[in-house]
Amino acid sequence: QVVNYAPFTLLPSAVPRALFEQAYAVQQDFNLLVDAVSQNKEFLEQTLASAIKVDDFTARLFRIYKQVLEEGLAQTVFLGINRSDYMFDCGLEGAAALRQIEINTIAASFGGLTSRTADVHRKAGDPARSMWSVYGFNDVLGISSSAVVMFLVEEVQRNIFDQRCVENELWNRNIRVVRKRFQDVFEQGSLDASRRLYMDGQEVAVVYYREGYVPQVYDEQNWEARLLLERSRAVKCPDIATQLAGTKKVQQELSRQGTLEKLLPGHPEAIARIRATFAGLYSLDEGEEGDRIAATAIADPDRFVLKPQREGGGNNLYGEELREVLEKIKDSPERTSYILMDKIKPQPALNYLLRAHSPLQVSECISELGIFGVYVRQGRELVLNQAAGHLLRTKAIEHADGGVAAGVAVLDTPYLV
Ligand code: ADP
Ligand code: MG
Repeated sequence: QVVNYAPFTLLPSAVPRALFEQAYAVQQDFNLLVDAVSQNKEFLEQTLASAIKVDDFTARLFRIYKQVLEEGLAQTVFLGINRSDYMFDCGLEGAAALRQIEINTIAASFGGLTSRTADVHRKAGDPARSMWSVYGFNDVLGISSSAVVMFLVEEVQRNIFDQRCVENELWNRNIRVVRKRFQDVFEQGSLDASRRLYMDGQEVAVVYYREGYVPQVYDEQNWEARLLLERSRAVKCPDIATQLAGTKKVQQELSRQGTLEKLLPGHPEAIARIRATFAGLYSLDEGEEGDRIAATAIADPDRFVLKPQREGGGNNLYGEELREVLEKIKDSPERTSYILMDKIKPQPALNYLLRAHSPLQVSECISELGIFGVYVRQGRELVLNQAAGHLLRTKAIEHADGGVAAGVAVLDTPYLV
């Protein structure tokens, strides 16, 4: 194996202070919303019904969700670590607007490395007044001294040093950490009569998924391992319902008039803050509404992004490709496994992207701001709800899609203006 430095910008990127503060201010609302969606069986069922019919991966996740609900959940504590991502849309006239790209409810990465990025920029001699919060766990989990936190990881983990930052925070609090793959869980995992989770005799208090959001990692054994973890009494970060709450289909349904009001009754201010960050999102479900937006997108593909129910970058379709695919599936049920979204058009700025083995050259760049959200629910009560730091990723404008892991974006620091 080869160790490379994580890619980063030479200079911090300008971020409007007002939008940065707006993104922090809405994070606790998004924590509340994700958690509310994860507890709303009727909403998840209705929202995902069309996608499940044509998308096997979402269907498999949903099957586990139903199965653990039918059995009855063994744990009443829920830990969420999500990241809500935004771009700054500059539209036709006037000031830029904060627009949510998506919310990541599983394996929301770079909480570790981002807490070091500002130091890199300071050491690079730049006087930028940067700010960030250290991302960490709180002690409210009440973990018994012998049980461990299990990081669920890939065999080969390119982003291991980001995870080590989080792991070190736990070791510093005398919480023991083990790193395991789905295959290890299949081979060594077991539940006792009260559904406590054991790995080779070692009790596991928390399962922290940094893996499990792409279909390719799941063979039948790994699906079985996932079911075992979900059935267990261990705290899951995230539990399967919260993973489903992070699907693109749910994001699109949340933007429909009246949905937020149903999910967060009694929170009109939170709803207003959340809605202010939404871009245009459109269902491609069968029927007139879907027919109409499909036709609009085929006629003017550069206005939209076509998104399937996938995570991890590189799955979305743009421009000519969007037109071709939509043209092909517009009269088939397959269309319902996608959503359409307005394309955000940020103002580009010049920067240097530093990446191992790539020549240094100035590029026209755009940035995406992520805010980390952390919450813990015990039964029905949120005992912790925080905005817990931020991440700025910057990429050259010629790439429509893709994050840092996909080799497109690099780590950056917001320079507030
Ligand atoms: P994934 O789950 O694969 O990360 P995203 O929805 O975050 O999916 O999209 C991946 C990338 O595509 C984003 O990081 C962003 O660069 C770009 N992108 C996504 N949606 C839009 C949009 N509406 N407008 C402009 N760019 C977008
Ligand atoms: Mg993303």
